[in-house]
Amino acid sequence: MSKSLQAIRGMNDILPEQTPLWRYFESTVARLLDNYGYKQIRMPIVEFTELFKRSIGEVTDIVEKEMYTFEDRNGDSLTLRPEGTAACVRAVLEHGITGGGQTQKLWYIGPMFRHERPQKGRYRQFHQIGCEVFNLDGPDIDAELIVLTWRLWGQLGIRDAVKLELNSLGTSESRGRYREALVDYLSAHLDKLDEDSQRRLKTNPLRVLDTKNADTQAVLVDAPKMADYLDDESRTHFEGLKARLDAAGIPYVINPKLVRGLDYYSKTVFEWVTDKLGAQGTVCAGGRYDGLVEQMGGKPTTGVGFAMGIERLILLLETLEQIPEEISRQVDVYLCAFGEAAELAGLALSEQLRDQLPSLRLQVNAGAGSFKSQFKKADKSGALYALILGDDELAQQVVSVKPLRGQGEQQSIAFDALAAHLATCIVQG
Ligand code: ATP
Ligand code: MG
Repeated sequence: MSKSLQAIRGMNDILPEQTPLWRYFESTVARLLDNYGYKQIRMPIVEFTELFKRSIGEVTDIVEKEMYTFEDRNGDSLTLRPEGTAACVRAVLEHGITGGGQTQKLWYIGPMFRHERPQKGRYRQFHQIGCEVFNLDGPDIDAELIVLTWRLWGQLGIRDAVKLELNSLGTSESRGRYREALVDYLSAHLDKLDEDSQRRLKTNPLRVLDTKNADTQAVLVDAPKMADYLDDESRTHFEGLKARLDAAGIPYVINPKLVRGLDYYSKTVFEWVTDKLGAQGTVCAGGRYDGLVEQMGGKPTTGVGFAMGIERLILLLETLEQIPEEISRQVDVYLCAFGEAAELAGLALSEQLRDQLPSLRLQVNAGAGSFKSQFKKADKSGALYALILGDDELAQQVVSVKPLRGQGEQQSIAFDALAAHLATCIVQG
């Protein structure tokens, strides 16, 4: 195929054979979030570039080098959203739904765009499900967000493969004091830092903690510790969170180097990581961002949230072979009709069945065909039963119900008894 007719690198089609797993995943999360009282919000995919610069921070990887930014026909600078929090905060502010201190527990799902190097688990268009909670400032809600993801891992059968890492970045005051101490210390060891860290030291010093460079990591061993700089408020909050996770029986490890890539976090930060996916091991990440709404022009409004990467979680389900059997079967029964008269009767009958059994997955053969070819299609559809309607059946007003997965003998069932018959065998099957 010529290059112009290919999908953009790092932007994937999700093919029909993959969508059942996606829909299973998405509906599992949606049901869980409904059950915890979260409400869905849907934001546009494109926003003014300024929104992301202001919220994510100018000196972050995302804003510095990963955004899809373009000028539209009005000359406005627009950006395909690289994440969901910024737009969600914009939306709640614009519609005043947190203004009077109202609590909002929100969730969203959709594609995000980042110009990164595509590889397994890292794409340029990827999908996230995220939660954002506004105007609740206690550790109880931080804990709830973690508890509900823990429940999700349980429902998906991947609990044993993920680990919770936790840290507190403190309030902006305590983080400010820590930043100063860190900059002092690192400046005294400047010559031992890698180039990237030297640059970050000036622009975003906390990100140095995140380095993969061994020499810089060696310098960090004796660096000041964030935990020693937490003020009482942050410390109490963090202890409150840990007590709740203990009460819920959720294991975690404290990772003092966990700082997250975005500027807006404060107090709690966490990541769910797996060692089953190679380098792209973080499947869900989040934290508290109490200063963000104000920074974006709103009244002081606390916030906390997370986002999970759907592609990585789908990969994990596949790797661990945690794919429920029921999603591999998409068709319950397949109707084969032979000849014009049988086709017409078959159409009427199938519509009647859809009325009587609303959840029945009934595929009607299209394009006629010989007995052999229709039967082959019925088998290939994965259906449990083929319904056969030919001249003989039509004359007797019956359907031949043929089991396709070795469950007993073929039976003749009268038209008006068919729905009841299928109801029992599909449930049993
Ligand atoms: P990473 O460290 O892997 O780059 P991040 O810190 O940039 O992740 P967040 O912005 O916190 O990621 O996004 C939350 C989640 O979204 C990540 O934990 C990951 O599961 C997923 N994610 C982020 N970027 C990508 C991507 N380019 N492709 C696929 N999934 C992604
Ligand atoms: Mg990233």
